[in-house]
Amino acid sequence: MQKMQPVKKTHQEELADIMANAELDIRFVIALAGDRTLNARERDILQRMYDERGEGLYSDILSVLTHRSFPPKQARHLWDEITEHRKTLRTKLNRDVGISVAAHDYLTNIAGLMAAVGIVEESKMSSLASVATRDGLTGLFDQTSFKHRLKEELERQFRYGGPLSLVMFDLDKFKSINDTYGHSEGDIVLKNISDILVRQARRIDTTARYGGEEFAVILPEVDLKAAFIFAERLRQKVMESFQDNPYPVTISVGIATNPTDSAENADNLIRRADEQLYKAKNSGRNRVCLEEEPKKEA
Ligand code: GH3
Ligand code: MG
Ligand code: MG
Repeated sequence: MQKMQPVKKTHQEELADIMANAELDIRFVIALAGDRTLNARERDILQRMYDERGEGLYSDILSVLTHRSFPPKQARHLWDEITEHRKTLRTKLNRDVGISVAAHDYLTNIAGLMAAVGIVEESKMSSLASVATRDGLTGLFDQTSFKHRLKEELERQFRYGGPLSLVMFDLDKFKSINDTYGHSEGDIVLKNISDILVRQARRIDTTARYGGEEFAVILPEVDLKAAFIFAERLRQKVMESFQDNPYPVTISVGIATNPTDSAENADNLIRRADEQLYKAKNSGRNRVCLEEEPKKEA
């Protein structure tokens, strides 16, 4: 792998880093509920989160509070109801119960949306939330949160238009790397691949470890042709990064695109990308396959 030169980061890049690493945590949610004033930096982060996630942000907030997923529109409505409910409770009890208690009381006893409520200490809650959504080795989203994100992104796409592409890739002959150099060497390769992927992706893309040595990327606002360029560049970067390695590392890639103004279901889009990945494997590996060739310029 090539050595990266340390570069001084701008304020915007620092913020981008915070957002990439920090899951929305319970302290932040409490601040959003108005329990304390957000500082300028937090307001900046919030604005960016909202720009990126739109109403999906409310799904994130409720998932931090309840560890359950609600669709964005419903989540936004529930958040308004919960904050109102909290005010009502404050008036009736003459004391503030806080946002967590208000949320649980509202969702369980009034809306009937939650059956059993567990009690988790505040300091443990944020780490539980982030551990549940990330893969331990790479730090990428795991399969469950990836599918959740894909559903949300497809819903968003359906509402606002624009294309959406899904890129899935799998390491070639990875078993023989494990067999020859050991499982921990294999783990290092997986981590390096994940780092390459994160560097190639944009901030609005969702990067995930889909399974053992299989990865997935959601590219919102990206059509088939642009997805092909992304996938081809990724494939090349992987090859280049390992060119001085004692053994080659390559990937096979499959792409499926949902064009503007068409509805698609997450499982079906995954199945379509996976079919292309299978084709890439069967036609010789270390290549990108897609449903249609991008149109050639005249
Ligand atoms: P193909 O080109 O057809 O994909 O061949 P392959 O050898 O990559 O595929 P196969 O499915 O036969 O093997 C996948 C291997 O990935 C087997 C498994 O041990 C390894 N693997 C899965 N998860 C991990 C992991 O977390 N760490 C390591 N080191 N290896 C893993
Ligand atoms: Mg493989
Ligand atoms: Mg595999």
